[in-house]
Amino acid sequence: MNDFKAEPAELQTEMLAAVQRVIASGWYVLGPEVQAFEQRWAEDCQLPRAIGVGNGMDAIELILRGLNIGPGDEVITTPMTAFASVLAILRAGAVPVLADIDPDTALLSRASVERCLTPRTRAVLLVHLYGQVRDMAEWQILARDKGFALVEDCAQSHRATLGGVRAGGFGVAGAYSFYPTKNLGALGDGGAVVTRDMALADRVARLRNYGQSERYHHPEIGMNSRLDEMQAAILSVRLNWLAGYTERRQQIAQRYRAELKQPAIRLLAAPQETAAHAYHLFVVCSAHRDALVAHLKAAGVQALLHYPVPMHHQQTCLDMRRDPLGLPASEQHALQCLSLPCHPQLDDAQLDQVIAAVNSFRAI
Ligand SMILES: *Cc1c(COP(=O)(O)O)cnc(C)c1O
Repeated sequence: MNDFKAEPAELQTEMLAAVQRVIASGWYVLGPEVQAFEQRWAEDCQLPRAIGVGNGMDAIELILRGLNIGPGDEVITTPMTAFASVLAILRAGAVPVLADIDPDTALLSRASVERCLTPRTRAVLLVHLYGQVRDMAEWQILARDKGFALVEDCAQSHRATLGGVRAGGFGVAGAYSFYPTKNLGALGDGGAVVTRDMALADRVARLRNYGQSERYHHPEIGMNSRLDEMQAAILSVRLNWLAGYTERRQQIAQRYRAELKQPAIRLLAAPQETAAHAYHLFVVCSAHRDALVAHLKAAGVQALLHYPVPMHHQQTCLDMRRDPLGLPASEQHALQCLSLPCHPQLDDAQLDQVIAAVNSFRAI
């Protein structure tokens, strides 16, 4: 599913040079490398501010806390996401509420979100799952009409766009993760908050650093969630490769869309006309999922499941509030989804092999 060892020697050399530069500088936390990366990531997101933080989960928590969302407040999100999305809401002290997905995209359903709204709803955490950014005008209108903050979980949507706007530019703020397997990954943990709200940006920058306003002054209770210089320097190098790597993901997806001829699978909806899908994952659905995964494995193809357990089936979330009509589409998706290899180091011969393996499956 990922093959970091196959990355070009040139990229490795550039990363080593960046690491040497940081070691020689003698400055390892919140310094010039973080500032430079923040500036470049903000530009890449077409937004005025990016704040480097410890990881993607903290980025979500910091946005919520920066918006004064906490105890007693409800935040609606999807059961079909990484556990970190829900955990960040819990860690902010707020109450997660789970709405169902649209089966054609596996993204949050607006009809279900509307059923989950209460006077205590303060935000919707919209996850751009698999790298898809869709229907953002409709979400913006709903947020305005119902008076909630639209917060974007961009952990899977680096450089994804809709109508020319990058993920993170539609709501009040976007949370990025730079976990190694993400489309832009560090060699360790990292994350960023992006926003056009300067006051929120300043607040997040304080909260990530003990709530410190100036040295030794702590006007509010913050946390320790800082991006370090080493990871920032590595991310600046890897950012130079991101556009090309995203194009490769899109090429792979195009070939899957054109060449997968397998009646036992269903593709998710194609990206909207003005969208650029980041294809963090290429996910298909099958009623014969487990047999198909076994068939692929026998053919030397790895397939993973994103995600096999919806949030409300997690032991810690069994009582979590949810759509009064239930979450049937999420449950079905969890049973049927599988992710085919889709990463920049996948070469054409490997891609041919995956396509042939999927197409040769016979459901019984
Ligand atoms: C990876 C991921 C996160 C969490 O990011 P970390 O950096 O691992 O904390 C949050 N949401 C989604 C959708 C993710 O895929």
